[in-house]
Amino acid sequence: MKQQPTASHFVNGAYLEDTAGTVIDVIYSWTGEVIAKVHSATPDVIDQAIASAVEGQKKWAAMSGAERGRILVRAANVIRENNHALSVLETYDTGKPLQETLVADATSGADALEYFGGLAGSLTGEYIPLADGDFVYTKREPLGVCAGIGAWNYPTQIACWKAAPALACGNALVFKPSETTPLCALKIAEIMIEAGVPAGVFNVVQGLGDVGAALATDPRIAKVSLTGSVPTGRKVYAAAAAQMKHVTMELGGKSPMLVFDDADVEAAVGGAILGNFYSSGQVCSNGTRVFVQKGIKQKFLQRLKERLADVVTGDPQDESVNFGPMVSARQADIVTGYIAKGREEGATLFAGGEREGLVVAPTVFSDVTDDMTIAREEIFGPVMAVLDFEDEEEAIRRANETEFGLSAAVFTKDLARGHRVVDALEAGTCWINTYNLAPVEAPFGGVKASGIGRENSKEAIGHYSQVKSVYVAAGDVDAPY
Ligand code: NDP
Repeated sequence: MKQQPTASHFVNGAYLEDTAGTVIDVIYSWTGEVIAKVHSATPDVIDQAIASAVEGQKKWAAMSGAERGRILVRAANVIRENNHALSVLETYDTGKPLQETLVADATSGADALEYFGGLAGSLTGEYIPLADGDFVYTKREPLGVCAGIGAWNYPTQIACWKAAPALACGNALVFKPSETTPLCALKIAEIMIEAGVPAGVFNVVQGLGDVGAALATDPRIAKVSLTGSVPTGRKVYAAAAAQMKHVTMELGGKSPMLVFDDADVEAAVGGAILGNFYSSGQVCSNGTRVFVQKGIKQKFLQRLKERLADVVTGDPQDESVNFGPMVSARQADIVTGYIAKGREEGATLFAGGEREGLVVAPTVFSDVTDDMTIAREEIFGPVMAVLDFEDEEEAIRRANETEFGLSAAVFTKDLARGHRVVDALEAGTCWINTYNLAPVEAPFGGVKASGIGRENSKEAIGHYSQVKSVYVAAGDVDAPY
């Protein structure tokens, strides 16, 4: 594959190899073929990456915001020009269908770079007038060197969602992809250099959790942004807290989708399909607890089954395929374990349940109750739990009975109810009559155990910068002695 990166790490503007690091096999999950090998970062590689980021950040922050923005927009353009090759690589890295990656990954990364590139020139402070000619002005300053740690489901998007606001604010970033999907972020690093980002401003180091932990505990790192599971989030947040670092935590969920009797059935079924089976269900914000009001339940399930007949599995590099394998054998095993648990605990297997290789069929359990494991734990695979309810109050109460709070949705033709229900749902990102749309203009993130901070939108600027307040006195200093 000619678009493959040429070494494991990208440090100080160039590829870097250190074969002393543990070998990590990169596997194309459709064939099981090893398509690349990377080495985990040694302490020396980690040190070089952070040291180059410290130097790079000084040059980068000294540029004007508009100049930084122009470079980020250029990077977005290069990504778009290379969308096909980047999408093919994303599909090799993750196993997600090319049909998806062509429209959802590099393009979403480019959107972020374009958006934050556009904002970079407008990041200014305030002038605050006081009595007697005194005044305060504020400056929005970068944090310094940030660490990004990514999950394996959207490797290009996660790298860009972190890099775009970080770099727009004048920070440098050291990014560690998941060891399952190490390739895509390296291509983004190449593109940053091509676009004119100075060496050291965006570095990529490979490795497992220990490399993430080394970044999170290095005193030169000012902020850690993690996309990952809640248990990892707890560890990384605690490590960052010990040194009072800033954090953004984009963690897991078990999000509810509430379908009322008056909903448009096609829209609700479409939302449930997108929110459970896109990327083979490996999406943090998925609406995996689908609460359907009793009056519409049979119609909903019937249309769901009919539409699932249009699932096409096969080699994800084939553009006609719309449903791919799980990212890894480990993840496929986790998901089939949950399917077995659903059966054991008495849920009705309404559709799917089979596994062939690493492809786990889109699976729907009906008659699920709140106490079942499949209704409580994040599965991170194509398993939908359908639960039924009588009225609005009950649906809201049960929807909120979870430690998570990433996302939620309501399907209804009554918009007053839509707003009322969304107000009552404990979730950071909500939808009315759609699911899983996450445009860069909208804040994205969770409440409760699902996270801290927001990605995307103007909100992200506050999470990658800090305010300096400067008091300027016009008169004498009035000291008591
Ligand atoms: P993990 O939490 O297992 O890993 C996330 C990243 O953290 C990986 O790069 C991992 O390295 C690294 N890591 C693991 N342990 C540590 C540690 N002690 N210190 C620092 N870094 C560490 O998540 P997955 O990769 O399995 O991804 C799935 C999870 O991510 C799901 O829970 C999902 O909901 C969540 N997610 C959240 C999103 C959001 O925006 N809210 C979006 C996408 C996913 P390695 O894996 O290489 O060992």
